[in-house]
Amino acid sequence: MAQTYDVVVIGAGAAGLMCALTAGYEGRRVLVLDHANKAGKKILMSGGGRCNFTNLATGPEHFFSANPHFCISALKRYTPGHFVELVERHGIEHVEKAPGQLFCADSAKQVVSMLLTECEWAGAEVRLKTRITCLDRYGEGMRLETSNGVIDAGAVVIATGGLSIPTMGATGFGYDIARQFGLGVTETRAALVPFTLTSQWRERAASLAGVSCPVTVEVGEGRYREPMLFTHRGVSGPAMLQASSHWQPGMALSIDLLPDIDVAGALANMRHEAPKRHVSTWLGEWLPRRLAQAWCEWQGVTEQPLGALSNREVARLEGELKRWQLKPAGTEGWRTAEVTLGGVETQAISSKTFAVEGLPALRFIGEALDVTGQLGGFNFQWAWASGVACGQAV
Ligand code: FAD
Repeated sequence: MAQTYDVVVIGAGAAGLMCALTAGYEGRRVLVLDHANKAGKKILMSGGGRCNFTNLATGPEHFFSANPHFCISALKRYTPGHFVELVERHGIEHVEKAPGQLFCADSAKQVVSMLLTECEWAGAEVRLKTRITCLDRYGEGMRLETSNGVIDAGAVVIATGGLSIPTMGATGFGYDIARQFGLGVTETRAALVPFTLTSQWRERAASLAGVSCPVTVEVGEGRYREPMLFTHRGVSGPAMLQASSHWQPGMALSIDLLPDIDVAGALANMRHEAPKRHVSTWLGEWLPRRLAQAWCEWQGVTEQPLGALSNREVARLEGELKRWQLKPAGTEGWRTAEVTLGGVETQAISSKTFAVEGLPALRFIGEALDVTGQLGGFNFQWAWASGVACGQAV
């Protein structure tokens, strides 16, 4: 005989657990299913193990979606303040590492155990290592066939996230279910992901692996003032991760290596004030020494005294420092991406209840949807907010 629940949530990640505990407190009989052996694996690995669980500046302008208004209602109803209150109720200490970005002071494990504790208090059951082999309408509700038997549910919430980090259990399950029920799925792309470079630049970056500096990067509509980091395969760091959400193959990144400096003016002054000083010595005052040295080698000006630079050369160097055109070969892809851009189309989904139009027994929340945040805690805030909105309505 089939087991019966009011609500079955598929995916014991950030959005799924939040939805389950909310629905549980609303008096629903809730079951969470996940094929993984652990709940909240991405939470555990997030924020370098400290989970950047929200951003105090959360607003729709920090999200990408073909339907930019979709996220507004849920984000307004469940704010970063609400989540901070929950975290504090559980005695989890937190720190603001960068403006607005809140992290656990100790460990991301605390967030997962908080969510599981809340699920327990709310009476929501979490069942791991369960494969879903079939999902279909059944009367007014839904029927699931799973590796643990048949389950009937008044409603099913799909909270299976996006495609990034398949080794952590990411699958396209949410997209398959969306298509099965006639919903569209926008093109998906790895985002918040490091860039790889072609051979010459890859070698140059590798020789600087570990060096980081604050830059301004521009690509497409995106402009970010954040640190960049050289890696063995290319470039990363917050600036590059943010830029990856705007990048398309073939595009160049325009990087300002000295965002606080009027390079043309500074070089013109120094040519007169210290004409014997080498370009690399001057640059070493502003950039990490290894980068300043390497950059001068790339430009062929290592031994060049400032006084010997022609006006044309000053203009060229200024351009290379302020508008360095770096063309990535690609990105590291799903293996290391933090999120998926694109996903289940939101046009036929209610932004208040997250129910599919004409099929209230089926709902989608979290990263599975075509709503993707910038770096800095916005993606978790979306997971919490969409989970709560759906959990209250389901
Ligand atoms: P997930 O948290 O991905 O949960 C989906 C769940 O569904 C998983 O438990 C998975 O096992 C399960 N599942 C998938 N397919 C199936 C299936 N077929 N059957 C059953 N279960 C299935 N965001 C931030 O805001 N701050 C950060 O600091 C941050 N750091 C990150 C660091 C890394 C390395 C990564 C990869 C991501 C990071 N993110 C961060 C993004 C954030 O983790 C996600 O946006 C968020 O977890 C999405 O929540 P979700 O519940 O929609 O999906």
